[in-house]
Amino acid sequence: MYFTEDHEVFRQSFRDFLQKEVIPHIEKWEKTGTIERFIWSKFGEMGYFGLNQSEKYGGLNLDLFYTVIFLEELQKVNSCGFAAAMWAHSYLAMTHLAKEGSEQIKEKYLTASINGEKIGALCITEPFCGSDVAGMKTTAVKKGDKYIINGSKTFITNGIYADYLIVAAKTNLEEKHSGISIFVVDNNLKGISSTKLNKLGWRASDTAEIAFDNVEISAENLMGEEGKGFSYIMQHFALERLVMGVNAHARAEYALNYAIQYMNEREAFGKTINRFQALRHKVAEMASKVDMCKEYNYSITKRLNEGVYVVKEASMSKLLSTKMADEVIYNALQLLGGYGYIEDYPLARLLRDSRLGPIGGGTSEILKEIIAKMLIDGKDYKPAVK
Ligand SMILES: Cc1cc2nc3c(=O)[nH]c(=O)nc-3n(C[C@H](O)[C@H](O)[C@H](O)COP(=O)(O)OP(=O)(O)OC[C@H]3O[C@@H](n4cnc5c(N)ncnc54)[C@H](O)[C@@H]3O)c2cc1C
Repeated sequence: MYFTEDHEVFRQSFRDFLQKEVIPHIEKWEKTGTIERFIWSKFGEMGYFGLNQSEKYGGLNLDLFYTVIFLEELQKVNSCGFAAAMWAHSYLAMTHLAKEGSEQIKEKYLTASINGEKIGALCITEPFCGSDVAGMKTTAVKKGDKYIINGSKTFITNGIYADYLIVAAKTNLEEKHSGISIFVVDNNLKGISSTKLNKLGWRASDTAEIAFDNVEISAENLMGEEGKGFSYIMQHFALERLVMGVNAHARAEYALNYAIQYMNEREAFGKTINRFQALRHKVAEMASKVDMCKEYNYSITKRLNEGVYVVKEASMSKLLSTKMADEVIYNALQLLGGYGYIEDYPLARLLRDSRLGPIGGGTSEILKEIIAKMLIDGKDYKPAVK
C-alpha cells in the first residue's frame, strides 16, 4: 500500500550500505562513544541526509516513505545510539534549518549538512527545564547587530561533535512561549563548553551538557522570526515524534524476528522451544502489537506526506509505539533465556537503548497531556510556518 518498487530498491541498497560501511564499526563506536567522522561523509556522499530536502541544497526531495525506510533500517544495525546520531542530525537539526533558515543560512549550513560536511544538534532541553519548554532560562540578548547567548542546555544529542547547534533561547524573558527564538550557533565559538554525559543506553551517540558564557553571534543567525521559536519547535514535533514512533516499531520488529529465529534453533525438553504453546502465544501477541503500530505509523506518514498537520496522531504514535517496543523487547529477551542477558547477543543492548523511547523528544506523560487537551478541551494546534 505504501512502498513502491523504487522504495524497495532503496531499502535494499541502504541495507547493503549499512552492512558494509556501518555494522563492522558498531561495537567500537558503542565502546568509545564516538562515531567516526568518515561515516558522516559517506552518508552525505550517498545522499542519505538529504532524502526529504530540497534539490536546491543538494537534497533528493523524496517522499516521506524513504525517510521511514531510512529510520527502519537504521534501527536494525542494533545501535539506537548510532541511529540517533544520524536522525537527530537529519530530522531534528536540519528540519529547523530547512524550515526557518534564511537563504544565507541554508546555503552555509543546510548544503553542508546534506553532504555530510557539517553535523548538527538541536538544543532545547535545559538542566532545570525539560518538559516545560516555555520555562527555559537561556537568554539571547540583542546588542547592535549581535546576540549574546548565556545559559545552558543538557542531554543534547551530537552536542560535542556537532559543528553547529540549533539553539532555542529567550529573547524576551518576560514572555513565556512568545519569548523564545531559535538561532544557529557554530559550536567552536568562544564561550561554549561541553561535557559528555554517561548514559544507560544509546552509548554510541554523544550526549552533552553545553554551557554558553557570553557567546556572541551575528544577528543574521536568528532563524525565522524573533519570538516564534516555541511555535517552530512544536510544529516540528509532529515529524520528530513520528520519527520516534517509526524507530520504535522497527526496533520491536527487529527484536521479535531475532527471538523467532532463536526459538527455531534452541532446544529444551527434546524439542525446539518454538513448539511450546506458551511461547508461541507470546510471539503471536508481540507480532500483533508490532503490526498495529507499524500500520498506524505508515498511515500517519502518508497523511504527513500529504501536508496534514498530524500533531495528535504523531503524539499517539510515539506514546504507544515506544511503550510497545519496550514491552516487546523485554519479552523477546525473555525468550532467549540467559542468553538474552548476555552482551554478545543483541537484545541486552536493545533493551537499554529502547528505554529512552518514552522519555526523549517529549515524555509519555507530556504526550498524554497534548492528546487529552485536543480530545477533551478541544485545543487545536496550527502550524507556525508552511
Ligand atoms: C539520551 C538523551 C538524548 C536527548 N537528546 C536531546 C536533544 O538532542 N535535544 C534536546 O533538546 N533534548 C534532548 N533530550 C532531552 C529530552 O527530550 C528530555 O529529557 C525530555 O523532554 C524530558 O525532560 P526532563 O528530562 O527535563 O524531564 P522533566 O521535565 O524534569 O520531567 C520529569 C518527570 O516529570 C514528568 N512531568 C513533567 N511535567 C509533567 C506534567 N505536566 N504532567 C505530568 N508529568 C510531568 C515527566 O514526564 C517525567 O516523567 C535527550 C534526552 C536524553 C536522555
